[in-house]
Amino acid sequence: MKRIKRIKGTQDILPETSFKWQYIENTVRKIMVRYGYHEIRTPMFEMTELFARGIGQLTDIVSKEMYTFTDRSKKSITLRPECTAPVMRAYLENNLGEARPVQKLYYISPMFRQENPQAGRLRQFHQFGVECIGPSAPEADVETILLGLDIYQELGLTNFTVKINSVGDAESRINYKARLKEFLEPHLTRMCHTCQERYDSNPMRILDCKNESCNSILSDAPQIIDSLTTDAREHFNKVLSLLDQNEVEYQIDHRLVRGLDYYTFTAYEFIGGGLGAQNALGGGGRYDLLAEEIGSKKQTCAVGFAAGIERLIMAMEEENLLPQINSGIDVFIATFGGETQDAGFKLARTLRKNDISVHTELMGRSLKAQMREANRSGARFALILGEEEIKTGRAALKDLLQSEQKEIALSDLVDEILKTRE
Ligand code: AMP
Repeated sequence: MKRIKRIKGTQDILPETSFKWQYIENTVRKIMVRYGYHEIRTPMFEMTELFARGIGQLTDIVSKEMYTFTDRSKKSITLRPECTAPVMRAYLENNLGEARPVQKLYYISPMFRQENPQAGRLRQFHQFGVECIGPSAPEADVETILLGLDIYQELGLTNFTVKINSVGDAESRINYKARLKEFLEPHLTRMCHTCQERYDSNPMRILDCKNESCNSILSDAPQIIDSLTTDAREHFNKVLSLLDQNEVEYQIDHRLVRGLDYYTFTAYEFIGGGLGAQNALGGGGRYDLLAEEIGSKKQTCAVGFAAGIERLIMAMEEENLLPQINSGIDVFIATFGGETQDAGFKLARTLRKNDISVHTELMGRSLKAQMREANRSGARFALILGEEEIKTGRAALKDLLQSEQKEIALSDLVDEILKTRE
């Protein structure tokens, strides 16, 4: 029978890699706490309608990338491709706004999109993200940007930039779309098929196009910044001013649009310098219209971002920032089988109860093989327990790191090992 393999675009995160994930996740959680964010965990799957309405039917995600299936009760279910709509749904469903006018929520979760797998583009990938729900003030936008920056900086990343733009409010966008369409119309026949399709359905997404001939046309396109209403302009100016005051370097990118209708005001991206084609580390913005899009009766202001963990790992690898594996094992107990093995097994339990990490022989191998295993396991110490050691209550504790050895009383073992942790 053919061996079953994992699904294309998914990854097994093996022990030599999972500790890198833990390191990143722990750092993310630490910074989230600094900014007063609390974790939210929403279901891995939702009603398809949430994403169709929340993200928008015309987006690539909804039109061709979602893992959608019908369950046994004929409901259309989708594995979440992103977490902003689920978090907003949870916020509304649980009346979180009543409990506190400002809800600062974060998540670290897998997402699912049926894209063409390539480096930095997977079908199951992982994001950390934040949603600050309640405030309309530009301070909230900037706080999310600073939070993202602090995470990258805490991890030591230097090769990245922040790109920012404003997509205005609904009125700004109506004005801008009209100007953009007027500009694009005479060039349309020379533009790619996708751009031609988007001309009527969602013209602002055309600005995202990477096609060369579209690109050269778009370089002369009108900029949304010139179509902003007074409110939208003031909001953007305040965001930029706060970034300046906090000494954040950024680039204004007039073509950065998160082309969905619910996005408002600020849009931004964290771009990794050494990542090649898939260079977006994360992206976010303000989305004051999403709540209504998914059925809320009243407007709910919100701003947030989502950032990819696989791409962050790639960026950290580029800069050599990932820590070396640390097995965390304090001691390997080697025995000679029979009663000595039982005694070693029991000693291991005592040590573990004292918060000491222990590896013991589980294959009944020779002493030589056990010592090889002790070295391979990354244990700091090895303890050889034979009949003589059990009788006298004294044994040799080998420091595998320093290549030293000393004889100690077994009754001092706990203290002796804990001492090396200080
Ligand atoms: P988005 O929700 O599309 O704005 O994505 C936010 C971030 O998630 C991106 O900047 C990437 O870092 C990451 N990301 C999005 N899609 C994928 C994917 N298919 N594979 C890996 N990372 C992804």
